[in-house]
Amino acid sequence: MKIVIATRNKGKAHEIKKKLADLDLEILTLDDFLDISSPREDGKSFRENALKKARFIAEETNIPTLADDSGLEVDALNGKPGIFSARYAGENATDDENNKKLLKELNGVSLEKRGASYKCVIALFFPKDEEKIIVEGSCKGFIALEPKGKGGFGYDPLFFVPEYGMTMAELPIEIKNRISHRGKALSKLRKKLMVILEQ
Ligand code: IMP
Repeated sequence: MKIVIATRNKGKAHEIKKKLADLDLEILTLDDFLDISSPREDGKSFRENALKKARFIAEETNIPTLADDSGLEVDALNGKPGIFSARYAGENATDDENNKKLLKELNGVSLEKRGASYKCVIALFFPKDEEKIIVEGSCKGFIALEPKGKGGFGYDPLFFVPEYGMTMAELPIEIKNRISHRGKALSKLRKKLMVILEQ
């Protein structure tokens, strides 16, 4: 079976491909469809955005499409940046700009009050019969006082994982893929996909 991952984010695509690598799937990304652009993420929740993206790209390509919508919710900021994580510091903001803004917003907040969660919703939409699979995952941590590590992407250099005593960007990708919000959602999706592929 062919599927499209509705992203141009290389970090995301790499994590998703790695997790599904042993399934009998041909995995494409939006980089294989340069003339198709993603719809605007104007939904009110990760779920709404993920489903909108998956449905739109599946209908454009006529291939089952997997879309992830994910982000960071910081307790001390009442769940911000949430669905606006990618553009927290402004439209087209870089990861570095977003991380700097987050540190600024949390200036003076003590470590124990810097709790945060990564959230992820993955939707897989089948254009032929309009069937969909939706799975979710989350991962708890703290926002560090300064960035550390070179792995992952986005807020990973600031996302401190207490169980490992390091940031997500310092952890090997195999561990991130097991414990992360996306990793957990993908494990659920994997199980459902295996059933479909066996039919
Ligand atoms: P999306 O592409 O609209 O889902 O944007 C998700 C944004 O949330 C990314 O651009 C990152 O800023 C953040 N994010 C989501 N997942 C992760 C992750 O695994 N690590 C770090 N940041 C993430």
